[in-house]
Amino acid sequence: MVIGEAESLIADLARDLEQGTAKPMYQATERPEMSTSPLPDLSLLKMRRYSTMAVQYSRGCPFNCEFCDIIEIYGRRPRTKAVSQVLAELDQLRAAGWREAVFIVDDNFIGNKARAKELCAALAEWRNQYRTNFDFSTEASLNLADDAELMQLMKDAGFKSVFLGIETPDESGLIATNKLQNTRRSLLDSIATIQSYGMQVMGGFILGFDTDREDIFDRMVEFIQKSGIPIAMVGLLQAMPGTQLFRRLWREGRILDAGAGDNTDDKLNFLPKMDAAQLVEGYRSVLKRIYSCEAYYERVKLYLSRTQPKRGEQKFKQRWLTRGNAQAIVTSIVRQGIFGRSQWSYWKFVAAAATRYRRCFPAAMTLAVMGYHFQVMTKRVLAGALDSVPI
Ligand code: SF4
Repeated sequence: MVIGEAESLIADLARDLEQGTAKPMYQATERPEMSTSPLPDLSLLKMRRYSTMAVQYSRGCPFNCEFCDIIEIYGRRPRTKAVSQVLAELDQLRAAGWREAVFIVDDNFIGNKARAKELCAALAEWRNQYRTNFDFSTEASLNLADDAELMQLMKDAGFKSVFLGIETPDESGLIATNKLQNTRRSLLDSIATIQSYGMQVMGGFILGFDTDREDIFDRMVEFIQKSGIPIAMVGLLQAMPGTQLFRRLWREGRILDAGAGDNTDDKLNFLPKMDAAQLVEGYRSVLKRIYSCEAYYERVKLYLSRTQPKRGEQKFKQRWLTRGNAQAIVTSIVRQGIFGRSQWSYWKFVAAAATRYRRCFPAAMTLAVMGYHFQVMTKRVLAGALDSVPI
């Protein structure tokens, strides 16, 4: 068993394995500074099998959401790499022939805003130097919407999407779960503000808070439709071991098991306040409604209308019709446009993408393909039995 971050453990572990003297357990005594992270060895990677590459800049998050395991694992003091370390990783990716998206896989990219700004400025310079539209995406907290300078820097650096933990449109739920950074604001306005900087917002949503009432399902669907968030990841609340939530529910005698860590498989690992069968059924109804073709394409169009670059705004032309993308488009046409159930909605969307949103046609087609993925996943969840409902 290896507990803790690799930087402080891996050398001992590798040495002991090589010598055949591996111990049953290795536990880090402290969280390492990220300046000690080495460059990854890309020769071990079959890059063609990936749609994005991962680069990490920071770990940890200063907030204190009750259900979050990030802060328990990585702590609340954001630690970052040096800017030069990140640029070295990007240089290495370029040298290996990578030209597509890079996910900055931080828990909260803006946990330390000053450092995030420093990196964004360097990324913009790096992109200018190589005259490339290397795209970035990341995860951040919603208070990003309060910092115009940071959003502009992210835009200049080439950030095209950001995942935000929105969780619930119900303010009492946000307060109860200590997600205070999402309160005392219009969530929809904050999302639209971030989108106005050309960034797609992907959203995480949770059902199953103690404060959820029967109307939460309709409110969730209405909110997601108005948000222009195409990729809305709705899951059931999970009480992860080690979290404040787990400890509270344990004290209240409501924990059923340790959970699998997958909040999209409609399994509850605790006794909710709402009737469990009603909660799981409501969760499925939300998925069904937001991933119907019509609802999904409506959200994509709203997002495109908010983020489409103005004429001449894109500095460097990136060749997007690569072999992989061409294959994806042909597959999309066959599966969604010829054999799909909602061919009419699909072709109406493609026509809109090719005309009204032609300056972001690649993004539109990418989202069409991703929509197919979510429709398949939703169908699987809906086809599952309700055997996971605790009695
Ligand atoms: S903002 Fe996100 S990463 Fe930070 S504590 Fe809350 S859930 Fe965890």
